[in-house]
Amino acid sequence: MGEAPVRIGLLGCGTVGAALAQLIVDESDDIRARTGLVLQVARVGVRDLTKDRGPLFDASVLTTDVASIVTDPDIDIVVEVMGGIHPTKELILDALKAGKPVITANKELLAHEGPDVFAAAEAASVDLLFEAAVAGGIPLVRPMRESLLGERVEVILGIVNGTTNYILTRMTEAGASYADALAEAQAHGYAEADPTADVEGLDAAAKIAILASIAFGVQVTADDVHHEGITRITADDIAYARRKGHVIKLVAVAERAGPGVADGIAVRVHPVLLPTTHPLASVRESFNAVFVQGRAVGDLMFYGRGAGGEPTASAVLGDLIDAATNQRQGSSASLGVLGTATISSIDDLEAEYYVSLDVVDQPGVLAAVAGAFGAHGISISSMEQEGRGDGARLVFVTHVARERAVRATLAELEQLDAVALIGSVIRVLPTEVSS
Ligand code: NAP
Repeated sequence: MGEAPVRIGLLGCGTVGAALAQLIVDESDDIRARTGLVLQVARVGVRDLTKDRGPLFDASVLTTDVASIVTDPDIDIVVEVMGGIHPTKELILDALKAGKPVITANKELLAHEGPDVFAAAEAASVDLLFEAAVAGGIPLVRPMRESLLGERVEVILGIVNGTTNYILTRMTEAGASYADALAEAQAHGYAEADPTADVEGLDAAAKIAILASIAFGVQVTADDVHHEGITRITADDIAYARRKGHVIKLVAVAERAGPGVADGIAVRVHPVLLPTTHPLASVRESFNAVFVQGRAVGDLMFYGRGAGGEPTASAVLGDLIDAATNQRQGSSASLGVLGTATISSIDDLEAEYYVSLDVVDQPGVLAAVAGAFGAHGISISSMEQEGRGDGARLVFVTHVARERAVRATLAELEQLDAVALIGSVIRVLPTEVSS
């Protein structure tokens, strides 16, 4: 007699769900040979029953009644790839309560409602696995949860949004403007028609909140993450960076603000001037990478496809096999109890800053601008003037300064007649994490 199949309830059959269903069929022989598991997509929840789903499913497995799937006693494991926060959260909580392991790719849900969902999984002692929720196909969550559990993670630096990395790559390598690079990303399907979540850093903020939660064992949500996007980066900024041996990347950062977790966690997303020698500098186009520094392990880097149906489905399938194996053995993976995080304010950040200013052509401009920096105790490491006359641009790089002082300086500069426009303000990666 053959092994009883693992009956999967699939919530959602779009880009990721359809790719997963196909992967399960394509890899079924190998999965069975290597694990003894027979995976069967038994029920599929969708919004629209009239959509053509190809030959993969019998129409009888499709339903719009997603709630009935999570409580169906014949379903062993629930895979949530429908997205959104509601009713998805309630469906996942019901599944966990019913003792069913849940696999999810839903970063938005975990970044906003993670503490509730993680606590429900702990209370029910069932698996809640979410490898695909951060950096799509890159194995990252499991290494962080398991392999690095005993490691004191100091810093995580991630390029975790493919859309913005693609845009910045095109600006760097083809000299494209931000608007043209965005249009190109949209034409290639890397950017949505409304790109806000990507270009303003919200998507990356959700991912770093999840990573920080796992790495530091505390509850971090997307609301804790200071975020800035890439919409103000200009071709001039990119050209300056290149001349100085740097690239500009949108980086998500999670780090300890002091020796212990109680000293606080700093989590933020913003553009960074990275030396071209840094491992993250060579991450091009829509690829993702996460650079981790641990006290004992040193530098690690995870690299690959952060999105796309098949890469993401690959991560979901790995979780699915893991959960099915655990279920057979009567065990489950635990995230542990997440403590309360002390999130340090962005005002307390210390970094070097690149500041570009459009200035008007009048005597004493330089003295007035330098005076504003000096008045707030910020010393200048370098200053360059580009252009002449009213199109002149001053570019400053500061020594290490506190964010609070930089903001006060910018507020003062804004009041100066000599300053026509404050352009980009970009943090320079501190040298101690510059590899
Ligand atoms: P998608 O293509 O929009 O597919 C969503 C699926 O869920 C569709 O089949 C849709 O039904 C169904 N659905 C949505 N709301 C529903 C509801 N209220 N009731 C029943 N069915 C519902 O989305 P996706 O790109 O596959 O993404 C799914 C999840 O994976 C999201 O959480 C996303 O953030 C995450 N993710 C995606 C990627 C990626 O590259 N796409 C990467 C990493 C993580 P219909 O087919 O009938 O419309």
